[in-house]
Amino acid sequence: MENCLFCKIASGDEASEIVYKDDHFIAIKDINPQAPVHLLIIPKKHVGTLMEIEESDKDMMGSVFTVAKFLAEENDLEMSGFRLVLNCGMGAGQTVFHIHLHLLGGRPMKWPPG
Ligand code: 5GP
Ligand code: ZN
Repeated sequence: MENCLFCKIASGDEASEIVYKDDHFIAIKDINPQAPVHLLIIPKKHVGTLMEIEESDKDMMGSVFTVAKFLAEENDLEMSGFRLVLNCGMGAGQTVFHIHLHLLGGRPMKWPPG
């Protein structure tokens, strides 16, 4: 989608540190990391928010967790634990309206989140 930051990053039109790529996803390092490991797992397909997913996105939304597991292993987070966050809507803190999953790890996590 035009004027979408994550579409531009996924297509290579905008530079970013890409740490993972497959047919359906890229993962990048967050520009403003909130933990020693802070990655964003981004589907190549433009979907604005979780509220816009459709039945046909079921496989994609399922396999995002397989990518998260792979990246958690790659960053040695299995033992320490890690957090996955999906902000949906402005009220939840979503700032980029192209769906993405945050993978945060490398420090103790508190609950409830802010
Ligand atoms: P949201 O707040 O929408 O859940 O998450 C958006 C995330 O994208 C934020 O954590 C923000 O730091 C990150 N971000 C915003 N612009 C860029 C960028 O240009 N490059 C990268 N790598 N991350 C970005
Ligand atoms: Zn997009």
